[in-house]
Amino acid sequence: MRNASGSLYGLAYGDSLGKPTEFQNYATIVARYGPGGPRELSGDPALVTDDTQMALAVGEAMLAGPVLPDVFAENLRQGFLAWAISPDNNRAPGMTCLRACGELSDGKPWQLASQINSKGCGANMRVTPLGLDPGLTEDQLAGGAQLQAGLTHGHPTGLAASELTALGVRWLADGLDPQDLLARLRARCAAERTNYRGDWLGDLWQRSTAGGPAEFIALGWDETDAALARVETALRRGDFAGDPCLATGAGWIAEEALATALYCYLISPDEPIAVLGRGAASSGDSDSIACLAGAFAGAALGMDAWPEPWSARIEYTDRLHKLGSEWDNSGPSGM
Ligand SMILES: [Mg+2]
Repeated sequence: MRNASGSLYGLAYGDSLGKPTEFQNYATIVARYGPGGPRELSGDPALVTDDTQMALAVGEAMLAGPVLPDVFAENLRQGFLAWAISPDNNRAPGMTCLRACGELSDGKPWQLASQINSKGCGANMRVTPLGLDPGLTEDQLAGGAQLQAGLTHGHPTGLAASELTALGVRWLADGLDPQDLLARLRARCAAERTNYRGDWLGDLWQRSTAGGPAEFIALGWDETDAALARVETALRRGDFAGDPCLATGAGWIAEEALATALYCYLISPDEPIAVLGRGAASSGDSDSIACLAGAFAGAALGMDAWPEPWSARIEYTDRLHKLGSEWDNSGPSGM
């Protein structure tokens, strides 16, 4: 199945298909590509955006040392700073990430660099590698997902949505029926509602106006659960034509990027190319929506989800291949 590779390549393919449509409205996209959206890579190499670049930075920080609070924070800092000064960092990167990287470069504790009021989707679009290393415990996955968000986006909704995105990817790679995914994610929101992961986040919450750590993190889980509830409603309604952002949000913020990506995926979990096209044919943050939708589809279906020739054309295929192989070959079943 090669689920880790399937998910990483799915992320890059969705990112690449959504790259030209990110700043286009729905009518313009449909006039150009049809109602199914873009379904063919363009260019050779087919370029990606900061979403894939930063996901690679997160994945490579995972390989640079153990996913434990202090060492992972330092490896992430180095990876993000290397990305920030790279000449390839010219793909409409998010302002929050650039601002936080400027602060991280001073060497101050990451909690002081974090943009505490930002829940932009920049932390969410890059988190899926945390769901793909079968060697991580659930605490490492969840804590690591929130930590990598917090380095740039300190808003609790950025933290909660990142954890859920990584967990969703892991559960799908482990064989969870996609029909059960939303209920399981919403149950996680309830179970974790007041669990502030102080061993991973340190005193981050004190930079907010919340009265305590539990109150701080509860806002994140509540906002994310509300976004997932809208996905449930939209799926139940059953009319899937048109701009997906009208149903579940434009995706510029973390919980909406997760919600609209899940919506695009869960409409047709067995049609991965349609999932990518649907995410890319969206009025909002098309590359981030399509990349997360692709990461979900690829986690569930493995590399077989994607046309074989695409892997030779996508930008950064060597780095995607290296990360995917690392985790596909370390799985309990050795797949
Ligand atoms: Mg982007």
